[in-house]
Amino acid sequence: MSTTTAADWIAHHARVSPKREAVYDLASNRRFTYAEFDDRITKLALYLRTLDVREGDRVAALSHNDSDVFEIEFACQRLGAIFLPLNWRLAVPELEFICNDATPKVLVHGLEFAAEAADVARLTNIPNLIDIANGGDSAYEAGIAAATGGLAPRVNQLDDTWVIMYTSGTTGRPKGAMITYEMCLFNGIHSIMDAELTQRSKNLVFLPMFHTAGLNVFGNPIFQTGGCNVIMRVFDPAEFLSLVTDKDLFITHVLGVPTNFLMLAEVPGFDEADFSNLVSLSVGGAAAPLALIERFAEKGVRLQQAWGMTETGPLGLWLTDDKALEKIGSSGLPPMFTDLRIVEEDGSETPQGQTGELLIRGPNVTPGYWNRAESNKDIFTEDGFFHTGDAARQDEDGYYYIVDRWKDMFISGGENVYPVEVENVIFQLDGVLENAVVGIPHEKWGEVGRAYVVMKEGSNLDEQAVVDHCLSQLARYKVPKEVRMIDELPHNATGKVLKHELPRD
Ligand code: ADP
Repeated sequence: MSTTTAADWIAHHARVSPKREAVYDLASNRRFTYAEFDDRITKLALYLRTLDVREGDRVAALSHNDSDVFEIEFACQRLGAIFLPLNWRLAVPELEFICNDATPKVLVHGLEFAAEAADVARLTNIPNLIDIANGGDSAYEAGIAAATGGLAPRVNQLDDTWVIMYTSGTTGRPKGAMITYEMCLFNGIHSIMDAELTQRSKNLVFLPMFHTAGLNVFGNPIFQTGGCNVIMRVFDPAEFLSLVTDKDLFITHVLGVPTNFLMLAEVPGFDEADFSNLVSLSVGGAAAPLALIERFAEKGVRLQQAWGMTETGPLGLWLTDDKALEKIGSSGLPPMFTDLRIVEEDGSETPQGQTGELLIRGPNVTPGYWNRAESNKDIFTEDGFFHTGDAARQDEDGYYYIVDRWKDMFISGGENVYPVEVENVIFQLDGVLENAVVGIPHEKWGEVGRAYVVMKEGSNLDEQAVVDHCLSQLARYKVPKEVRMIDELPHNATGKVLKHELPRD
């Protein structure tokens, strides 16, 4: 039997290097060393215990990014409780659904969400509300200041659940992926190996922390190595550019979704900006347009593509920087402890080079969804591979390409069309800021493509130019039959395009 248990990373670094900086919360200008951070976490755990938080209880957080949110996560570990980060973009009925499902005992909320938190607590009978004020006067700070006594931290097993994270539920109701200590441990090992994290690394947290990328790439892995997380409350492209180029701050690691970098490339000063601090600049969470990677390459910056899911820790594929251009479009290779397969609908192996569904197995993969014991069986194959729902192919060197989501594929005249391929072609046009292609019903062809295009300011591109460009680059059945110019695309809180919200009629 394995004797490995879940280590308390913060306590470890507080012993080994107490004076090293653990977090820097930009909005409040608070900086905590590992010793200070460790002390606040212990006191928060003592405070939560006075509210009767016990092993297995859920503690929810509804807040913009804040170093306090990490404290809640680590205090949960010390109590053996489960951290439940909530998406602050959701409306009260959506939060109500999640809190009815996960039944938290405590809801910690930013002052900015006091009204929503009170509604959700009333509707779902959450007994305790705690407000936080980004370091200002609040029940949270008062609770930490008043905490007394010692804490015998719980020793957690690797298969215990540490976090429940609800996926954005682009189809149907959201489901709470259970994230175990083992998943986090291996996501950390993979990040350390692939993204070269050390105790000298500084990660910029700017994606929302209720999302796996905000929390786990590379927030949590940085605490595993003993580096520092610099926290932006919300993403702003101009501020982001000045932070990642600031030679005193010296950010070394950044992962964003494509929309972040598309916006960044439009910020005045981008062309002259010097990114040489960065050990790794990576993009994931959605397909990165090739034109975006090329735009960064023109500046001599290698934008590395990564693929992952909430359910996979998330790191499941990683493209090393030396291959960022040679294998452009690929999300790379699986990390050390992860197995991938690409299969047909009937489960048989898809021939190399062709597209099938991507399956994944490894210690970084979720055991299933909270409260879904029945359907959890269907998400795995008999030999333990998780169905990702993503369409992928592999090249002759074994590199993986995420082609699209299975459900975004449409069939035109009997031919499969993967919208991402078409979007990449539209992105080649200079005046295009963003675009999304969806399948719409068509009498003759079954389905055809419709492109939604957002133009850059001052561009005079028209619908016909988009169609003409596609005709010159793509087979006819892939060319959108319709192009609609719109002011903006709908995005989720991470910045991913919500294709299901684009009209199909
Ligand atoms: P959701 O977006 O559904 O809330 P996740 O944040 O867990 O959930 O996103 C996982 C999904 O994001 C993957 O299944 C995949 O479809 C998409 N994705 C992530 N990385 C990439 C990538 N590099 N290329 C294409 N798609 C990606």
